[in-house]
Amino acid sequence: MEKQTNFIRDIIDDDLKNKKNDGRVHTRFPPEPNGYLHIGHAKSICLNFGLAKDYAGLCNLRFDDTNPTKEETEYVNSIIEDVRWLGWDWEDRLFYASDYFDKFYYYAQELIKKGKAYVCDLTPEETRTYRGKLTEPGKNSPFRGRTAAENMDLFERMKAGEFEDGARVLRAKIDMASPNFNMRDPVIYRILKSSHHNTGDKWCIYPMYDFAHCLEDSIEEITHSVCTLEFQNHRPLYDWFLDNLEIFHPQQIEFARLNLGFTIMSKRKLLQLVQLGYVSGWDDPRMPTISGLRRRGYTASSIRKFCQRIGVAKFNSTINISMLEGSIREELNFTAPRVMSVLNPLKVVILNYPEGKDEKLEAINNPEDPAAGVRMVPFSREIYIERDDFMEDPPKKFFRLSPDREVRLRYAYFVTCTEVIKDEKGEILELHCTYDPQTRGGNAPDGRRVKATLHWVSAAHAIDAQVRLYEALFLKENPEKTKGGEDFTVNLNPDSLKILKNCKLEPSLNTAKAGEAYQFERLGYFCVDGVNHTKEQPVFHRIVSLRDTWAKIQNKAKSR
Ligand code: ATP
Ligand code: MG
Repeated sequence: MEKQTNFIRDIIDDDLKNKKNDGRVHTRFPPEPNGYLHIGHAKSICLNFGLAKDYAGLCNLRFDDTNPTKEETEYVNSIIEDVRWLGWDWEDRLFYASDYFDKFYYYAQELIKKGKAYVCDLTPEETRTYRGKLTEPGKNSPFRGRTAAENMDLFERMKAGEFEDGARVLRAKIDMASPNFNMRDPVIYRILKSSHHNTGDKWCIYPMYDFAHCLEDSIEEITHSVCTLEFQNHRPLYDWFLDNLEIFHPQQIEFARLNLGFTIMSKRKLLQLVQLGYVSGWDDPRMPTISGLRRRGYTASSIRKFCQRIGVAKFNSTINISMLEGSIREELNFTAPRVMSVLNPLKVVILNYPEGKDEKLEAINNPEDPAAGVRMVPFSREIYIERDDFMEDPPKKFFRLSPDREVRLRYAYFVTCTEVIKDEKGEILELHCTYDPQTRGGNAPDGRRVKATLHWVSAAHAIDAQVRLYEALFLKENPEKTKGGEDFTVNLNPDSLKILKNCKLEPSLNTAKAGEAYQFERLGYFCVDGVNHTKEQPVFHRIVSLRDTWAKIQNKAKSR
């Protein structure tokens, strides 16, 4: 990969020039284990691990697990799997913020001793009123004047479990008149009598994110703490804690989060889709999660490539899904073997082909990769073609098969349709054709031409399979935008999953394994499902179509 430039790399280059941090570069990826990782996290992962790699530095994987109520071991395990799958290595630096709970407590006591933190007994509602408005300063809490000794005692008793949830909090003593709300004596510890996935019932007070996060970075001696733009307003607080505790001070740097069109990225909302059964799970191939993309057939390298291409900026924007699809399409064009498969089969009987005969015809595995070689595809008297490759009464621009017209069967022969067989309702049951034995391999010795080449599968040799086709999960570019406060689920696309149960696949696919990707000629890139697929009942997903169709989808969304 070519070397990237961006404003974060500029900052690091400067720091290295100035010998800051003894020339160290140490980053971290700090997920909260309250859901599965999504493509937005991939951006942050590739950024943080990528910086460490390019600057010969280190990157930690750290679980920011300071909130006991929403976090679970299932999420921890999935995050470890996903980061590793994306190709990154944290060596022995896997950390849990919860392992620092004793240290956080110690630092909170230090603030108290310095007169920089106090125990406050206001109710949550009173605290809100005291905080003031954007245009108005707040009011000091009546408990702000407590002595250090009194605060130490109360804080210890909070820890000992003497008080109920919400009865008291520990707050930083900063400035109730600050134009920055985050600086108006923020809460740094709360009482929460709740079991933690790692520390069990040892603690009944838990630190707030802003207090814990800068300490985690400092404890691990992170040099560049990269986070998303929402935390810009929190940076003064990040700096305040570290300055007042006089401990190692990483630099917080904010970048724009990834937003993808027709996609939601909030873990809370993704969880809702899972819990309410709108999708089959976190790894549903329509989900923007890493596990969903993996199951859909995205490779780690295509996701890394995407993250590199979108770059890093200081302003928010929405990226078109065609960028993501483009990265996998481009890769699979070089790596995916071609096969012929029919999704909506229409039977064709070739009347002048001998009954009981079959033959093997040579087909190219990948025209982009000569080393991929050739394979032999069976041909026989009865084959399937795609239903929409035939029209009985074709309009002017339809060049594929129709009565009395000759077309090429790829790698096989020229065939001409002689008769359309229908049932009593007029539905087409099958086509009768004749073939020209002189055109074996797909070329006529007399040089005559045909206007269309169709893919096909020999009926007797075909594998019966289920193929799942996907559209975007949402109908709107910004799914969160709803009329009159409706839930975002009103924007779900009812057609996001289409299951085709009667597909006919080329027999060479009988050795296909979970996760493997193929190009079904003329139809797109497909992948063997990793969950439901068996040799007896094959299941394939369409990863992407062969061409970008997003311009059309976007226009349709606009007219809605
Ligand atoms: P969500 O809104 O999905 O719950 P989060 O920010 O709460 O995301 P965390 O687990 O705290 O999730 O995120 C871990 C890291 O990933 C953070 O450093 C965060 O900034 C980054 N991150 C999360 N979402 C995105 C995104 N869409 N684009 C880039 N980075 C992201
Ligand atoms: Mg978060």
